[in-house]
Amino acid sequence: MTGLRQSWVESANDPETDFPLNNLPYGVFSTEGSAPRCGVAIGDMVLDVAGLEAEGILSAGDPPVFSRPSWNAFMELGPEGWTGFRAALMALLKTGSPMRGRVEPFLVPLDTVRMHMPFDVAEYTDFYAGRNHATNVGTMFRGAENALPPNWLHIPIGYNGRASSVMVSGTDVRRPWGQLKSPEMEAPVFAPCKRFDLELEMGAIVGVPSQGPVSVQEADDMIFGYVLLNDWSARDIQAWEYQPLGPFQAKATATSISPWIVTKAALEPFRTSTPAREKELLPYLREPGPMIYDIDLMVTLAPEGGVPTVIAETNYNEMYYSAAQQLAHHTTSGCPMRVGDLLGSGTISGAEPRQRGSLLELSWGGKEPVALDGGAERSFLEDGDVLTLLGAARGDGFRVGFGACTGRVLPALDDPYAR
Ligand code: MN
Repeated sequence: MTGLRQSWVESANDPETDFPLNNLPYGVFSTEGSAPRCGVAIGDMVLDVAGLEAEGILSAGDPPVFSRPSWNAFMELGPEGWTGFRAALMALLKTGSPMRGRVEPFLVPLDTVRMHMPFDVAEYTDFYAGRNHATNVGTMFRGAENALPPNWLHIPIGYNGRASSVMVSGTDVRRPWGQLKSPEMEAPVFAPCKRFDLELEMGAIVGVPSQGPVSVQEADDMIFGYVLLNDWSARDIQAWEYQPLGPFQAKATATSISPWIVTKAALEPFRTSTPAREKELLPYLREPGPMIYDIDLMVTLAPEGGVPTVIAETNYNEMYYSAAQQLAHHTTSGCPMRVGDLLGSGTISGAEPRQRGSLLELSWGGKEPVALDGGAERSFLEDGDVLTLLGAARGDGFRVGFGACTGRVLPALDDPYAR
């Protein structure tokens, strides 16, 4: 495995930074009074690649692609364009680069910028590919005997979600209203969600379009990069609405993503294998090589005015199905995939209780509340809670991090229909 690549941007050589030269993730930023545009994180700075492009110092080709508030136009260039640009960025920023003097004026301190959605989400699909999560949820809802649905070991289960409510980290999330009915209630009521929850996930971003079915290898080649993803979930709405077509309004309120797209190229050294197959998969779903990544993940919860407590720690390599397998499966019907499609991995939970990626599992359906530093407890999210997802692949003396994916829960509005 490669070690830390040295940069003349000093803060990028700190072994604890999320953004060493090895990473170079892509985001959209603005500063006071300037328009959102493309930037690359390096150490504690953002490199204004739109500015470099305008000055003719750095280019991804013609026409220009960076002076706009999304990376979609760059994605459209395809894998060769991605590789060439990453190599050019590395050359500009590495220690000893003769270009330092011309590039340095385009560095903006990270703590002075505002981050925006890094890409236009074409469509959003969410999966259910974590075996521990599916087993835990199944055990709670159907009993341990029938925990995994009969199709689970054969097919990456998913549903078509909403692109319109995908939001960048830092955006507040309003507790939704919905139709609720617990088993002991005779009839449903329309009320604010009482079991609002998170789902710790990774999001894979499609950078190459497809027409017709693709193989797992072709699917992997289509993936541009990854983000952290919080699939906010209204468990009480979900429990009543989900049969027989799956989640609908329970998942439609909001999906938060981290602001930096970590490229597949940056994650390449951390490739690893999905867990052993219990049942042999159909040929179209078999992986030609390691297709998942070793990425440490963490969730913290801070009550309003309180300190954050780590409530879960796990790893992306727990997933039974990789994003490439999910994407290949997504195309089997002939469904065309587009640049900017976002695929949620499904909730990532490890085998141990502290490795569970949702409060539903951590509190075991509310029966075992999670203790927070400072004395509070949580079964589900309360108003004012701030949730933060963190993730990083760890190399020898460096880390490839994602930056935080954070969101605060706002109280439900007054009855939206009382008017
Ligand atoms: Mn989900």
